[in-house]
Amino acid sequence: MINFELDQEQKMLTDAIGRLAQERMRKVFRDADEEGIIPADVVKAGWEIGVLPTSIPEAYGGFGDYSVMTGVLAAEAFAWGDLAATLHVMTPNLVAVPLMLAGTEAQKEAHLPLFCEPGLPNVTAALTEPVIQFDPRKLKTTAVLENDTYVLNGSKSFVPLAENAETFLIYANEDGRTQAFFVPRGVDGLTVGAREKLMGVRALPTFQVKLENVKISAVNKLGGSEGIDFGRILNHSRVALGALAVGMARGAFEYSRDYAKERVQFGEPIAHRQSIAFMLAEMAMDIDAARLLVWEAAWQLDQGKEATQSAAVMKYYVDDMVLSVCDRALQVLGGYGYIREYPVELWLRNARAFASFDGMAIV
Ligand SMILES: Cc1cc2nc3c(=O)[nH]c(=O)nc-3n(C[C@H](O)[C@H](O)[C@H](O)COP(=O)(O)OP(=O)(O)OC[C@H]3O[C@@H](n4cnc5c(N)ncnc54)[C@H](O)[C@@H]3O)c2cc1C
Repeated sequence: MINFELDQEQKMLTDAIGRLAQERMRKVFRDADEEGIIPADVVKAGWEIGVLPTSIPEAYGGFGDYSVMTGVLAAEAFAWGDLAATLHVMTPNLVAVPLMLAGTEAQKEAHLPLFCEPGLPNVTAALTEPVIQFDPRKLKTTAVLENDTYVLNGSKSFVPLAENAETFLIYANEDGRTQAFFVPRGVDGLTVGAREKLMGVRALPTFQVKLENVKISAVNKLGGSEGIDFGRILNHSRVALGALAVGMARGAFEYSRDYAKERVQFGEPIAHRQSIAFMLAEMAMDIDAARLLVWEAAWQLDQGKEATQSAAVMKYYVDDMVLSVCDRALQVLGGYGYIREYPVELWLRNARAFASFDGMAIV
């Protein structure tokens, strides 16, 4: 009934991403963090692997089918290379996946072919809000229907790549339910604010976005007049984030494990000391446990099951796991872990973001 074997295509995909992660992403990620930008050729190479187009059915210009399981395998392999670069390359997924899950036929026909073109599409999504206790199911941004027009008002934060986005998928509260709306750039009342100065994932440009009486036709509501089942979209998003956390944690673990084997103190590699060996063993166990939770939720979603509980359990566990694995990785390096020359402080800063992505696990 349960099979953990990757199929041929999944093996080829993860091998290709693994090579890109090792040979390109790992070469630039430290400088990218300092400079606040991923080199364009690395983003291009990541996009050209074609993970998203292989998820889009042929009828809309793609060459595959949407599989959550394949998506999480790809996400883990990418994030091992670098989280910020991965989030940059995956930003179009924030629009394409909800579209595939909930779009009307006309919306799919209109928008999905864009994601199968050679260049990274200039789209983004805006869910998070600059409020205390952000709850994606109780958004402060509002959508009010007036005749055939929606009027949107509110503020969004952590909107990736908003500076160059031509289309925004804006999540807003309509009569107590979270709905999503396609908003073109240049519409009156939509303002992209200053770039946010982040603690981690500093190479990913994110922005605040303001909506003041933004008026859009009702046909721009995702899913048409019936709208979307937001919980389903959130579950898909959380599972993808879980896979990213596992990938980055694995990177931090492997780095600190290899360091511990090389670092000699008091005449022996520190990996031979029980306090270090046990810590590394626990890190490995925590990562494996987290991966199984991600895979379980992904499998449920691929079966068309709701997966709300498994996605919430997974998120709760994974948010803690990634932070504590990266913290222990830093501890294995001792004082060197605290120095920016080594990557573990970067992974620890990145890890803190997972508890905030998509709202806390408790909501
Ligand atoms: C913010 C900061 C400020 C600092 N300020 C000063 C300062 O003012 N003056 C100064 O002299 N130093 C300072 N240090 C350095 C600090 O004292 C060392 O980092 C610390 O002693 C650990 O040494 P190390 O970095 O070489 O790590 P390592 O000795 O390589 O240790 C790496 C890991 O292995 C573990 N380990 C090492 N040996 C053993 C063993 N025998 N058994 C079990 N576990 C072991 C350590 O606990 C650690 O987790 C500072 C460090 C930091 C982060």
